[in-house]
Amino acid sequence: MEKLAINGGNPIRDTYLAYGKQSVNEDDIKAVVEVLKGDYLTTGPYIKEFEDAVAKYVGAKYAVAVSSGTAALHMACAAAGIESGDEVIVSSMTFAASANAVLYCGGTPVFADIDPLTYNIDPAKMEEKITSRTKAIIPVDFTGQSVDMDEIKRIADKHHLIIIEDAAHALGSEYKGRKVGSQADMVEFSFHPVKPITTAEGGVITTNNKALYEKMMTFRTHGITKARERLTENHGPWYHEQQSLGYNYRLTDIQSALGTSQMSKIDSFISKRREIVKLYNEAFKSVSEIITPYEADFSNSGWHIYVIKVNPELLTVTRKEIFQALQAENIGVNVHYLPVYWHPYYKELGYEKGICPNAETLYENMITLPLFPSMTKEDTEDVIGAVKKVINYYRK
Ligand SMILES: *Cc1c(COP(=O)(O)O)cnc(C)c1O
Repeated sequence: MEKLAINGGNPIRDTYLAYGKQSVNEDDIKAVVEVLKGDYLTTGPYIKEFEDAVAKYVGAKYAVAVSSGTAALHMACAAAGIESGDEVIVSSMTFAASANAVLYCGGTPVFADIDPLTYNIDPAKMEEKITSRTKAIIPVDFTGQSVDMDEIKRIADKHHLIIIEDAAHALGSEYKGRKVGSQADMVEFSFHPVKPITTAEGGVITTNNKALYEKMMTFRTHGITKARERLTENHGPWYHEQQSLGYNYRLTDIQSALGTSQMSKIDSFISKRREIVKLYNEAFKSVSEIITPYEADFSNSGWHIYVIKVNPELLTVTRKEIFQALQAENIGVNVHYLPVYWHPYYKELGYEKGICPNAETLYENMITLPLFPSMTKEDTEDVIGAVKKVINYYRK
């Protein structure tokens, strides 16, 4: 058996392979420099251009770009009217931001367990959590796999709930042959560097609802509008007024130009991700100690991340040792995510362990492998080689 790097053997590769990374080329750089040389660094024409590109791509009527995916979720919760006393059902297997957005508005996140196969919110478990205080739900397209939106919509309609889809992983993913981004009331995407496209930091909400769109446009810029309908002869053309409490959540023109340039390449990014996932799935088929991702028929994932699950019953060690051994081989592994309510902050709010057992079991056994469009064939082979080497060693 090959000596593991963690035990002093030679690592599979000499340089560390990150788990995710942006793809920025000369086109992107040129687009950004052009803005820097122009008149508007922010609140200029590039924002609308980027919003239009995203809306068109996902098939939504409107898009509102903001400074991060988290800001987008906050904006969506505010537009949904979430306030103190309201409950919002959130997937338990997600980044903390999905639930934090509810807290920003004074609402109460209620965590629903995941389906053990897809790792997405289980619609039946979600329905069980609905009370007279429930106002909205935040399903997450975890890893890029779309949630079963028709089923979620059926339940939401029955109980008059607003759906805010956290599609931070799912730009380019499809549900029943249609792009994710136009089926929920509001859909959030993130443009953090590891996400499907990047603006460094940035996010967007897409929607088909004009009233929500208008609320969000005001929210991202202090709640201030030109308020032309309220103009009286006492006011001049300079006049604008704050009608609600908003924030400065604007995305800059510099970032928007980067985003528009990135959008022109999204399909090639996604197809690169899908190619790598195919190689992973093929290579790990014969390794019974690991469970590769399951994809539901209705989903065509864009693969933001590739999450494997180790089967502890077939191994002499736990996920932790496997993780550390892979790191020593210079493979940038990661874990997505700690069930949100396990964070100390949430624990202090009163959430207890055990409320979402499927999410907790997944957390104990999951490992995210590197996946990004500019990974080479050699990089992919290194990951496969390292996983096989480590599993071989710790096989029972
Ligand atoms: C990345 C991400 C967000 C938003 O993150 P930002 O870094 O604020 O853009 C929200 N939800 C999920 C599930 C994410 O992965």
